[in-house]
Amino acid sequence: MKVVIAGGGPAGLITGLKLLEKGISPIILERKAEIASTACAEGCDIASLKQIPFDSSPYISKDVEGTKFLFPGGYSFSSSRKGVVLDRNRWIKGMAEEFAGRGGIIKTGAGVISIDEGMAILKNGERMAYDVLIGADGPFSVVGKYLGNKQEVLPAVQYKIECDTSEIDYMKLYFDKRFSPHYSWVFPKDRVLNVGLAGKFSQLDNFVKFLGLDGKIIKKEAGAIPVSGLAHIIAGRNIALIGDAASMTNPFSGGGLTPIIHASSILSENIDNLKNYEQEIKKHPMSDPVLVKAKNLLMELTNRELEKMGKLVDGRTYEEMRFSDILRAAFHPMLIPKMLVFGKAIVISMKWGW
Ligand SMILES: Cc1cc2nc3c(=O)[nH]c(=O)nc-3n(C[C@H](O)[C@H](O)[C@H](O)COP(=O)(O)OP(=O)(O)OC[C@H]3O[C@@H](n4cnc5c(N)ncnc54)[C@H](O)[C@@H]3O)c2cc1C
Repeated sequence: MKVVIAGGGPAGLITGLKLLEKGISPIILERKAEIASTACAEGCDIASLKQIPFDSSPYISKDVEGTKFLFPGGYSFSSSRKGVVLDRNRWIKGMAEEFAGRGGIIKTGAGVISIDEGMAILKNGERMAYDVLIGADGPFSVVGKYLGNKQEVLPAVQYKIECDTSEIDYMKLYFDKRFSPHYSWVFPKDRVLNVGLAGKFSQLDNFVKFLGLDGKIIKKEAGAIPVSGLAHIIAGRNIALIGDAASMTNPFSGGGLTPIIHASSILSENIDNLKNYEQEIKKHPMSDPVLVKAKNLLMELTNRELEKMGKLVDGRTYEEMRFSDILRAAFHPMLIPKMLVFGKAIVISMKWGW
């Protein structure tokens, strides 16, 4: 079976590695001149990372004890689910080397510009025949457009700031509308902080000022986070989408790596029956509509509401929260339905990796 994968990002490479395990040797077509990371805060769940048939441990920049959720008024809530912050650029280059070393083919400078009757058409005019085409070509997927998908994306920006991170052992998410309508983040790497938010660089500058960071900015990055929830992921028997191309990113958390790892297992298991791939993905928690609902709610909340929510969960951990804690919101009846949506979205996200 000739499998062609458009896109040499995490979705394309992880799917490629999983297919090699099944005895299928795909061709990856990457638009850029080399395999390199797109903008990312580089946080990932350890349990999910271990499901890739590749040793990611040399590419972990820092292990973290969990995640802290910070609210206006200085309130906070945490989870002790362990995670890592990757050195993602080296990580995907490492996966690309492993993929090629095991017999996979990667063609760089090979952007797919359209699809025509079982052929992927490349920018240089080359036509590449396939039995199955996998669109892993990111948030502005050419293959996704061919399937008629229109994705909603949140623009996101990030600075890599050189500083001492030895005392920072949590990934931090700030829910504060002064900086971002969604959330802002601080993820520690070894001697570098990834500081970013869904929004513009001017908002990020305010956030950096608020944090009192004065380290050197060594990189400015911008990207797009798909937040519309799962798109059409197959067309007929021979085209499938995965990763940002399929809008698989958890719209609530913005995390895209874990969904890719889970979806790549399902896709490689069902490469000869894409209908099953679609059905299994629809049953997976990543497809739960509560994730989009929670994202929409988060975008609407005011700082006053966020502060009240923060006060109710202050000092608690996700692991020790009970349903009765949400009912403490009875003092603020308007908050109960919102807390229930968030509670469900957090439980669903945490079940399989945030
Ligand atoms: C600022 C920011 C921070 C983020 N932080 C995190 C985080 O901490 N943790 C997390 O889990 N997720 C995070 N995400 C989401 C995560 O980065 C994405 O979900 C993930 O990169 C998706 O991988 P992908 O392979 O689907 O797409 P991409 O990473 O976009 O890779 C797609 C690849 O396809 C190539 N390509 C594009 N078009 C074509 C074409 N027509 N033909 C051939 N090749 C093509 C691109 O050059 C690229 O190499 C973040 C996203 C942003 C924007």
